Amino acid sequence: MSRVDTELKFESVDALEAPSPFTHSARPDNKVVNPPYEQAHDEIFGALKQRIEAVNQEVCEPGDENSFFVCDIGEVERLHTHWFKKLPRVQPYYAVKCNPDAKVLRKLADLGVNFDCASKSEIEKVLEMGVDPERIIYANPCKASSFIRYAAGARVLKSTFDNVEELHKIKKYHPDSQLLLRIATDDSTAQCRLSTKYGCEMEKVDILLQCVKDLGLNLVGVSFHVGSGASDFTSLYTAVKDSRTVFDRAKEFGLPNLNLLDVGGGFQFESFHGSSAVLRGALDEFFPQDSGIDIIAEPGRFFAATAFTLASNVIAKRKLTPNESMLYINDGVYGNMNCILFDHQEPIPRTLFHNGEFYYYDFNSTSPRPVQTGFHYPQKVSIWGPTCDGLDCITKEYYMKHDLVPGDWIFFPSLGAYTASAATPFNGFEQNVDVLYIDTSSR
Ligand SMILES: *Cc1c(COP(=O)(O)O)cnc(C)c1O
Repeated sequence: MSRVDTELKFESVDALEAPSPFTHSARPDNKVVNPPYEQAHDEIFGALKQRIEAVNQEVCEPGDENSFFVCDIGEVERLHTHWFKKLPRVQPYYAVKCNPDAKVLRKLADLGVNFDCASKSEIEKVLEMGVDPERIIYANPCKASSFIRYAAGARVLKSTFDNVEELHKIKKYHPDSQLLLRIATDDSTAQCRLSTKYGCEMEKVDILLQCVKDLGLNLVGVSFHVGSGASDFTSLYTAVKDSRTVFDRAKEFGLPNLNLLDVGGGFQFESFHGSSAVLRGALDEFFPQDSGIDIIAEPGRFFAATAFTLASNVIAKRKLTPNESMLYINDGVYGNMNCILFDHQEPIPRTLFHNGEFYYYDFNSTSPRPVQTGFHYPQKVSIWGPTCDGLDCITKEYYMKHDLVPGDWIFFPSLGAYTASAATPFNGFEQNVDVLYIDTSSR
């Protein structure tokens, strides 16, 4: 497959969210989620192949067969183009926590994307790249006082809040902050809910507005986050509508006009066609072009997920029956697949290398079901991580064409969001993972 094919695939998925040839993951509630998109092309395959062929498992040093990522920086650029095609009015602030990979951050900064940081060290990391503090939003509504003082010293002005105590801290340590009031949203359909932890209920907005007024603070706008993996986007519409209510309410309180709306994160490539359409409509209805209000967002996964492919080695196997095995690989929930626990992701295992052959382009090498599109998958497997914890399970049930053995390789496409950023050294397994970079941009 060539580079051109990649672009075509990208366009066609975008055009109508065409069913991907790969998999259709059904959630336990049997709601079919959008089929995962992946980019697959020769440059990724070349990097995977070269690395794997360099490992001689008969004689290699401990760790030479460790799992590794291939990152296509070009994908980040394509995603950026795609974002502005769908949401031309919305300036993205990339949520650094999603994947703080230095080369991804560099690329985003060069493309003109700004940054959402949640802690001192994330702010530090972005400033060290030479990014202007004006391009950072400290989007954590509950900050340590020492971190607020740090932000003040670093001249990071934009920040969010959702409670009165935070306003008193800000008054004391960073009074010239440009503040965004974070409202709660209805995230009941989201896979990762955030409004249980953050956001002011609409009924309590007046209390915060009064406090802003009493303290003489600088309220510039409203922010929200509808959660990640939402299956319907009415929450996005409602949140924009509620934001409008807060803008109007601030006026009634006699506060200066608000001029910034932050529509948060949670955007996924696979559902972006739908979410961006809902958002565009809501913005045009409640914050029309000529209203003079700047719109920003805090996408994380959108810019990182599909740029990374993870390859992992089969280190052990327990055969249960001729057609049933437990496979143990050298990465798992304590490593780069913590997204299974923390982010409710279901990584898709596919056969990369078996018996001396590569199967990268066999999009049907595995299946979540024993029979799919008429094909019967003979091998039933469960896949486990390397630590001694029973929780360290990648999938309890998957089906494979091949009967994999130790030494074979599996890969997981689109695994760039909330993966390496939260890996731990638990049980003595290194958390530093190699990333092989390729760049298919501007070719
Ligand atoms: C995590 C987070 C984001 C990014 O969410 P995604 O689902 O990765 O887009 C954005 N804003 C805030 C405040 C967050 O906590």
